[in-house]
Amino acid sequence: MAQLEPTITERRRQTRNSIYQLIYHAKRPISKLEITQALHLSMPTVQLNIGELLEAGLIDVGEIKRSTGGRRPMGYEVKRDCKLAIGAAISADHLRFILCDMKLEELHKRSLLHDCDADPDLPGFFLRELGRFVRDYCPDPSKILGVGLTIPGIYDEKTDSVVISPTMRMKDISLRTIVEGSDLPVYIVNDSTGAGAAELATLPPNRQGDFVYLMLENGIGGYIYLNHQVYEGANGRSAEFGHMRIVPGGRKCNCGQNGCLEAYCSALRFSRDLGMTTEAFFAKLDQKDPACTKLWEDVLDHLALGIINIRMAFDCDIVLGGFVAEHMDKWIEPLREKVAALDPFSATADYVRLSANAEAGMRGAAWHFIGQFIEAI
Ligand SMILES: [Zn+2]
Repeated sequence: MAQLEPTITERRRQTRNSIYQLIYHAKRPISKLEITQALHLSMPTVQLNIGELLEAGLIDVGEIKRSTGGRRPMGYEVKRDCKLAIGAAISADHLRFILCDMKLEELHKRSLLHDCDADPDLPGFFLRELGRFVRDYCPDPSKILGVGLTIPGIYDEKTDSVVISPTMRMKDISLRTIVEGSDLPVYIVNDSTGAGAAELATLPPNRQGDFVYLMLENGIGGYIYLNHQVYEGANGRSAEFGHMRIVPGGRKCNCGQNGCLEAYCSALRFSRDLGMTTEAFFAKLDQKDPACTKLWEDVLDHLALGIINIRMAFDCDIVLGGFVAEHMDKWIEPLREKVAALDPFSATADYVRLSANAEAGMRGAAWHFIGQFIEAI
């Protein structure tokens, strides 16, 4: 059967959408002339669509800054607060929220210490705290597109339940009460999947090549982006790199197996082996504390093993994120050297890089709603 031509209306919407997306991704306000040139559109078409976007409150007029003097030309930029989205994260000992604008910038955040893994009424606690966060920071809740919630485990969207979360010691826990009990749309996702989505959303469109995201927190998860698509796996359990076996019969892992990457490289090593928080560990490491230095060498050695295995499987960039990676600026070069030493094909490992996104899981979960909104403009 032949494909139907898109209707005139849909074609017009696509033009408007491409103009909005160009403005959205531009690093500075962009002029009408620049839009006509970039998208090969006529000036009347651009003027018509800019008028609609301005009227709908989706874009603003901004000044194009130039180093030379004289009259400054005007351009258009995204109206950042026209819509908002909330990112939330449940972990074993915390409940966290952030409020994001259209560009995924964090406007407000709240972090609550709470034993989520031991709370029999976790959905009730979540909904009460979500309500409080909205009341405190969103004077106009109608602007909120939705709440993206991350879970450190495998989540089944069909049954609204956590299938398994080794770090939270959870199995088959329904979160349907959260989805059905909230006034706002709720989207629940695995934390590393959310983080990978944030990485993708914040890359400029011309740099969105294949990559694997490796999230280093109390657990280790991942995200695979290949051929312009997320690879989820047959059961939505792809990229569980934390449970890739790297040492036969090695350290006991939260999943019940032995020798997993997570057992060697997660933040739990700092607390379990040395009784330290991640922040305290890296502060001591900076002071060249011998116990911290020894443990960190061991973490890096095993992390390099995990990374080279991922590189051999996918032959693409490997991005490190999560709250451990946020402390790794000065360690990325030593890590690259360790990876390169294991690489049979390359003398350097510049394919390993650090993510620039903090709170990536929550931001990626919030992006679920912002991205959908942008696509529909
Ligand atoms: Zn494991």
